Amino acid sequence: MNCVFCKIAEGQIPSTAVYQDELVYAFADIHPAAPVHVLIVPREHIGSLTETGESHRALLGHLLWVAGEIARKKELGNGYRVVVNTGKEGGQTVDHLHLHLLGGRAMTWPPG
Ligand code: AMP
Ligand code: ZN
Repeated sequence: MNCVFCKIAEGQIPSTAVYQDELVYAFADIHPAAPVHVLIVPREHIGSLTETGESHRALLGHLLWVAGEIARKKELGNGYRVVVNTGKEGGQTVDHLHLHLLGGRAMTWPPG
């Protein structure tokens, strides 16, 4: 499969690792939108949140736990944002489910 995030998780494309376990790989975004900008992806190829089902419930919870864990390790005690862009109108550009963890600056609302 020609998926950039599968290749990153498998180590075929270089990245700056932030966290990894048997289910998840997290790495620095190549175009950071904040001082801390980490992408958290499942090792399993899942196209988007829309393509998840009952069998993914535990994995989805784990992805969110990893986001909190990284935020704690990076001492984002003033706050941070976790984003899952989904589909064309959601702004998703890479078709492999991923969480953005953004922190280190004040965020605005609503997002663009
Ligand atoms: P999204 O627009 O939500 O699909 O987010 C995709 C993100 O992947 C963007 O923030 C990109 O900067 C990031 N990205 C794309 N290619 C790479 C790469 N090779 N290494 C790290 N981040 C990447
Ligand atoms: Zn993939």
